[in-house]
Amino acid sequence: MATLALPSLDVIARYEPVIGLEVHVQLATRTKIFCGCPTSFGAPPNTNVCPVCLGLPGALPVLSRQAVEMAIQAALALNCRINPFSRLSRKNYFYPDLPKGYQISQYDQPLANDGFVEISLDGGARKIGVTRVHIEDDAGKSLHDGFQDSDRYTYVDLNRCGTPLIEIVSEPDMRGSDEAYAYLTVLKQVLQFVEVSTCDMEKGHLRCDANVSVRAKGAEKFGTKAEVKNLNSFRFLKLALDYEIARQVAVVESGGKVAQETRLYNADLGETIGMRSKEHAHDYRYFPEPDLVPIRVSERWLDEIRSRMPELPSAKRKRFVETYGVRDYDAQVLTLTRPLADYFEAAANASSDPKSVANWVMGDLLGALKAQGKEITDSPIPPERLGELVSLIAQGELSGKLAKEIFPKMLETGESARAIMDREGLRQISDSGALEQIIGEVLAANSRQVEQYKSGKTAVLGFLVGQVMKATRGQASPGLVNQLLKEKLG
Ligand code: ADP
Ligand code: ZN
Ligand code: MG
Repeated sequence: MATLALPSLDVIARYEPVIGLEVHVQLATRTKIFCGCPTSFGAPPNTNVCPVCLGLPGALPVLSRQAVEMAIQAALALNCRINPFSRLSRKNYFYPDLPKGYQISQYDQPLANDGFVEISLDGGARKIGVTRVHIEDDAGKSLHDGFQDSDRYTYVDLNRCGTPLIEIVSEPDMRGSDEAYAYLTVLKQVLQFVEVSTCDMEKGHLRCDANVSVRAKGAEKFGTKAEVKNLNSFRFLKLALDYEIARQVAVVESGGKVAQETRLYNADLGETIGMRSKEHAHDYRYFPEPDLVPIRVSERWLDEIRSRMPELPSAKRKRFVETYGVRDYDAQVLTLTRPLADYFEAAANASSDPKSVANWVMGDLLGALKAQGKEITDSPIPPERLGELVSLIAQGELSGKLAKEIFPKMLETGESARAIMDREGLRQISDSGALEQIIGEVLAANSRQVEQYKSGKTAVLGFLVGQVMKATRGQASPGLVNQLLKEKLG
């Protein structure tokens, strides 16, 4: 296949891309959505299966309450309206990894509608609409093996059959690959915060299909869209979209028509490739699932689920700024993941100087953990101890310099700053009586510099401060040393 000549950036800039994402997320239930089989990853092929998830005749599904609750939590986190009545439908199609011959999904009456995700780009915030969130079951996996015709096999592993998913469909509100990237980033962050999914893309817990079309800038009507499947990383989402946008512009520029089709992203070629013409809803012969009752969500149940919702990242950010006085940007970093936010908050609450705690967490701690390939949850320093270290600085018991010496020791041993200070005799000398004695000794030993100072060369003060700091092993407060020296010399 000849590689398409892509248009220049100038030409692409005359068009506006329109993007809507369909995201599948695996819910973090321990068992499958319609049976008690485990959802664990990596079991030997075809071992986590039973008559229900294999779709054997006569086996009846039972809807998992936990899956529905997690789906509701996800939808609430995406600002959706939860529908009091929704139902499951059969979506019929043939595929070797779909033994039932249909997927149980939701069609005309989904669990939730009309939400949004707030993204911020270049300082400006924008809301991307969420059309719907619905529940469905996953299919199995086909594993393709071998390269030559003579030894090419496809294996089917049905362990994943019946794993609970939600599908999150966005409005066609995104206007570039960067916005799609930002949308998926926030979506993932929010769902991880609510702990309804690990969103681990490598394990397929978060999968993204992108619908994209282009229209001349200023045009009102959307162009024909193509759907790009197989976007299993954030990087590929962006690369695939940029390629697909350029490809569609080339098609339109050459007087052609974009075909409504499903395309696959080929990461090796960096191109999207037509896979099949677009299937339509009527191709699936949807009908209400006769083996399952509709889902009714009472106000009471909904309130109960709401009361169990954790604070969402946006609310947390706002509160961190208001309660702890951290900067907006810092609040954003500190709320990137829930464990990080929890760590910061525990450390901040244990300290008299939460703003400095933010700096220590984002700088020294995250830097050191990253160097050791560790996550915040593996931090050898418990948050309360980091909070204490920062308090000791704020209270003048430790100089910043001493704290930087103690920190790596805390990292190594997990001990408290105080324990290390006591053991090693490290303590800031802020008692002026003790300091005055040391200063006297330093002045006596450096009479030449004292003369120089008195004859007007006040720059030697720095040298004398240094000598005192050395004599105290860095345990004096430089400010106090300065002041006391000037008094003595003046
Ligand atoms: P279909 O009926 O083809 O499945 P839907 O209207 O259900 O299409 O939309 C599927 C996804 O495609 C949604 O995420 C939606 O936002 C997006 N979408 C719809 N129309 C367009 C368009 N013209 N360009 C880009 N994305 C679109
Ligand atoms: Zn099963
Ligand atoms: Mg659709």
